[in-house]
Amino acid sequence: MTDQHGHTHRLDLDDASVREWDATVVGSDPERGIVLDRSAFYPGGGGQPPDHGVLLWQGVQTRIVGTRKGDDLYLLPAEGDPLPPAGTTVTGAVEDQRRTLLMRTHSGLHVLCGVVFRDFGALVTGGNMEPGEARMDFNLPEVPPGFKQSLEDAVNAEIAADRKIVARVLPREEALRIPTLVRTQDALPPLEQPEIRVIDIVGLDVQADGGTHVASTAQVGRVEVVKVESKGRQNRRVRIRLAPA
Ligand SMILES: [Zn+2]
Repeated sequence: MTDQHGHTHRLDLDDASVREWDATVVGSDPERGIVLDRSAFYPGGGGQPPDHGVLLWQGVQTRIVGTRKGDDLYLLPAEGDPLPPAGTTVTGAVEDQRRTLLMRTHSGLHVLCGVVFRDFGALVTGGNMEPGEARMDFNLPEVPPGFKQSLEDAVNAEIAADRKIVARVLPREEALRIPTLVRTQDALPPLEQPEIRVIDIVGLDVQADGGTHVASTAQVGRVEVVKVESKGRQNRRVRIRLAPA
């Protein structure tokens, strides 16, 4: 199952809107971290950084400042915070402002790479995001005059079109038949995965993806293309940010 990581059921993959939930501690170690039976903490990956938040238990607060992925999904406590022992019932809460901003930023990057692929046929060669701002590198040796502005206009037109953003888990064979599935150069989903999670921006873009997204493109809000830089002969780096509300 793609929504299970070791002992932890990934609530964030079921529903990206979950911010608070009850769980039981199944592992607790000051070195390795805390393992829950159910967690909505996005553990990081695909350029999206991990969530921050808290665990509340018996009147105590344990701040979560990151995650570590291994055989289990380990939540990393803030230095000095008490750890809930195994067996404790906790309420988990993901820091909403940061996560929601990351979901909007991440979804904005999908619109960007969907538009660049549709209009220029260019693949992604790298990327990174922080809450509210991001960069993405494309294999795009030449760009036309006025590229930055026309790209910004095209991205915002797709956002204004309010396209639905849908996550689906498909059998591997079916997913691999989607021609646009893998947009990052040289990155095929691991062979041993029997199922592949895809994110469909309906009518614009379908690709394999494990991150969290908003439900429709209008929720991204206006995107600004801040800069287009050359990164070697083949690559262009596009920097975006979410416009202040
Ligand atoms: Zn994504």
